[in-house]
Amino acid sequence: MLENMIDLSQVAVVKKMLDSAGRVVVMAHKNPDGDAAGSSLALCNYIMGLGKEVTVVLPNAFPDFLSWLPSAGSVLFYDVEADKATEKIAAADILFCLDFNVISRLGDMSVAVSASKATKVLVDHHLFPSNEFDVSFSHPEACSTSELVYRLITALSGDECVTHDIAQCIYTGMMTDTGAFTYASMRKDIYIIIAALLNKGFDKDKIYRKVFFNYTVSRMKLMGYAMYRKLKLYNKYNTALITLSHEELMRFFAVKGDTEGLVNQPLQIKGVRFSCFFREEQPGKINVSLRSVDDFPCNEVAAEFFNGGGHKNASGGELHCSMDEAVRLLQRAIQKFKSELTM
Ligand code: 5GP
Ligand code: MN
Repeated sequence: MLENMIDLSQVAVVKKMLDSAGRVVVMAHKNPDGDAAGSSLALCNYIMGLGKEVTVVLPNAFPDFLSWLPSAGSVLFYDVEADKATEKIAAADILFCLDFNVISRLGDMSVAVSASKATKVLVDHHLFPSNEFDVSFSHPEACSTSELVYRLITALSGDECVTHDIAQCIYTGMMTDTGAFTYASMRKDIYIIIAALLNKGFDKDKIYRKVFFNYTVSRMKLMGYAMYRKLKLYNKYNTALITLSHEELMRFFAVKGDTEGLVNQPLQIKGVRFSCFFREEQPGKINVSLRSVDDFPCNEVAAEFFNGGGHKNASGGELHCSMDEAVRLLQRAIQKFKSELTM
C-alpha cells in the first residue's frame, strides 16, 4: 500500500473539472528533461483515454533520447509554432502545469499562460510553489513529477487506467529524476509504484538503454574532452567545476542533450560534494547546472549567485556574462558557503 501523499479532496475537484472540460493543455518547463516530458505525456495519454481533446505544449524541444516516448510526436513546441501554441493555451479550459513551480520557468511561453483564463492545476515537486495556480499538488518529497502524475491518475481512475504507454512515460520520469534510482530515491513507495508499473509489461532495462546508452560519437568525445581538459577542482572546498564555451560546444557539434548528466560525473570523485557545470549556450549566455550531495544546499547557491533555484541537491540558473566572470562569481559563492563546503 502506498502512503498518502496528494490531497484527495483536491483530486475530487480535478475530477469535476475534467468531467466538464472540453479542451485541456498539459505543459512542462523550458528545456524539458525526462521527468518534464514523461509526466506530461503520461497525463496527456490518460486524458486522451477519457476522450477529451488534449495537447501537450512545451516551450522548446526535449532531447532526442526522449523522442520514443508514447505520443511524443504530437507535442506542440512554443518556440517553433508560437501562434498555434498560444491559440491552444487561450482556448483551453484547464492548463496542467507540470514539473515547475513558477510560470516564469516557461520562458517566452509564460506570457500566454499568465494571460489565460483557464483553471491552472499545478503538479510539481519543486520547493516554494508560487501562488499563480488555482489548484496545487506541490510535493517536494516526491521523487519526480511523474510519481505525482501516477498518484493523481490512479486516485482519479484506479490502476486500470495506467496503460502500457502511460507506465513507460511515468517510469522514464521517475528513472531520470533519480539518476536511475541513485539519489532522491530512498522512499519505499517509489518501488511499490515501480512494481505496479512493471505489471503493465514493459521492459525497464530497454528504457534505461534508450535514455542513457544513446550517445553520439561526438557526445562521447565531448564528455572525454570535458573531463580531461576542462575539469577544475577546488580541493580545499570539495568543489568541482566544468566549463564549456560556445566555441567548444560548436567544435564538438554539440546538440541538445549532449551535455546532459555531465554535471553529475565529478561527484564520483572522492571528497567532492558540490559540482558545477557552466555551458555557454550562446556567446555571453551561460546555463548553470549545480549538483551536491548530502546537506549542501545548491539551490541556495543558485538563488543567491546564479539567478536560479531548484532542489537541494540539483539546481540551476542562468548568467549573462563572460565565462571568466561566471567563474569569478562561483569563486565568490564558494567563499560565501565555505563553512558548509568544508564541514
Ligand atoms: P539542470 O541542471 O538539469 O538544468 O537543472 C536541475 C534542476 O535545477 C531543475 O530540475 C530545476 O529544478 C532547477 N533549475 C534549473 N534551472 C533553473 C532556473 O533557471 N531557475 C530555477 N528556479 N530552477 C532551475
Ligand atoms: Mn522533475
